[in-house]
Amino acid sequence: MKRIALLTSGGDCPGMNAAIRSIVRTCLSMNIQAFGVEQGYKGLIEGKLFSMESKNVANIIQRGGTILRSARSEQFKTKQGRDIAVEVLKKNKIDGLIVVGGDGSLTGANILYKDYGVKVVGLPGSIDNDIYGTDMAIGVDTALNTILKCIDTINDTASSHDRTFLIEVMGRNCGYLALMSAIAGGAEAVLIPEIPYDIEGIIKKIKKRYEEGKTRSIIVVAEGVGSAYDFGKVFGMIGGFDTRITVLGHIQRGGCPTIFDRILATRLGTAAVEALVSGSSGVMMGLQKTQVVQVPFEEVFGNKKRIDSKLLEIAEILSR
Ligand code: ADP
Repeated sequence: MKRIALLTSGGDCPGMNAAIRSIVRTCLSMNIQAFGVEQGYKGLIEGKLFSMESKNVANIIQRGGTILRSARSEQFKTKQGRDIAVEVLKKNKIDGLIVVGGDGSLTGANILYKDYGVKVVGLPGSIDNDIYGTDMAIGVDTALNTILKCIDTINDTASSHDRTFLIEVMGRNCGYLALMSAIAGGAEAVLIPEIPYDIEGIIKKIKKRYEEGKTRSIIVVAEGVGSAYDFGKVFGMIGGFDTRITVLGHIQRGGCPTIFDRILATRLGTAAVEALVSGSSGVMMGLQKTQVVQVPFEEVFGNKKRIDSKLLEIAEILSR
C-alpha cells in the first residue's frame, strides 16, 4: 500500500476534519502517500486529487465541516460516472480509498468495492446516527450538544411565557437525535419516525402538566415525522396552547467538534489506514462497546439500525 486517497462525501458533519488529519498523519507515519480528493465523488470524477502533507492538516482538528469539502454527485450514481471515477483512481495509481460519509456515501463505496474491486474502507460520518454497525457515527455527539444547548436556551424563554415549544431536529428517517435530546433536555414529548405517535394523548398530558403548575412545555420533533409547523398548528388549534416553533436546521451540522467526536474520528481514521495496510477492504470502521471494529459492508447494509427500546421507555417515564 503506497498511495491512499481519501474523500468526504454527502452531508458534512463535525469531526470530518479530525478524521482527515488522522488518516493523513497515519499514512505519513507508514510512508504512505496520502491524496485528498476535493468534493467527494464529484471531485473524484473530475480528478481533483492532491498530495497531502502534515502541514495540510495542521490546525484543523477543532474545526467543523471538512477542508476537503463535500458534495453530492448524481453522476456517481450512474455506471458511466463510476467508470470515470475508477479510471481516475487507476491513473493516479491509488492502492486504497477511504470514504468518510453517511449511508449514501458508504453505499457508493460498497459499489466500488463489489463491482470494481477497489480496495476501500468507509468511516461513518453523519449526524443522524442511522448507520448500522457503529454505536456512534462521527458528528452525532457534537450535533446532540448543539441541539441541547438550543433546547436549554428555549426552555428559559418558554418558561417565562408559559409557552409550548415544538423544536424540530434533523435525523432524516432516524429519531436518534430527537430521542436523545428529548431525554437530555427534559422534554415533555418526542415525536420520532420509528414509533406511532398519539397527538391527542400528548395534548392531554401537556394540559394536565399546565394544570399542575408547570410553566412551559417542550416537544422535540424529528424531521422524519413531518414538519414542526404542521404539528404546531394542531397543538395550537386542538390544545389551545400558546405555541411556538423552532426549526434548528443546519446549525446542527456545524460547529467545533466535541472531544468525543475528535477522539472517535481520530481512532477510526487511524484504524482505516491500518485496515487497508493489513489487506482489509469492503469494511466500515465502527465503534462497538468502546472498541474500534471492522464491520463488513454487507453487514452494514444488510441490517437496519434500531432505536433502543429502553431509551424510549426512559423518555416516556421521565416525561410523565
Ligand atoms: P450521505 O452520504 O450523507 O448519506 P447522500 O445520500 O446524499 O449523503 O450520498 C452522498 C453521495 O453518495 C451521493 O451524492 C452519490 O454520489 C453517492 N451515493 C449515494 N447513494 C448511492 C447509490 N445508491 N449508488 C451510488 N452512489 C451513491
